Amino acid sequence: MTGRQLAARNVSIAVGQNIAAWRRWHGLSGSTLSASMAARGLPMSPANLSNIENGHQRVTVDQLVAFAQVLGLTPEQLLKGPACRSCWDTPPPKFTCQVCKAEG
Ligand SMILES: [Zn+2]
Repeated sequence: MTGRQLAARNVSIAVGQNIAAWRRWHGLSGSTLSASMAARGLPMSPANLSNIENGHQRVTVDQLVAFAQVLGLTPEQLLKGPACRSCWDTPPPKFTCQVCKAEG
């Protein structure tokens, strides 16, 4: 747990932005991520995913948990965003993050 507070307002918008950023960090296309969601029993078109990432559609708790599973994150990470926006908490091998000091 960090000391960072989670803003109570616009959480869905922040989660959408975090999903988009982590998806791109992992090099996943929108269609791949939406297909992974469907495989977890949460049918979602790439257009739905785009609406979520752009803050035009709210994220359900079920979707939040499934997104976290697909992206290899905890739901809390998706809610709060990364501690370090440079490496998105996953520095590459043999690198140490200057902000979070994590080693790849
Ligand atoms: Zn970092």
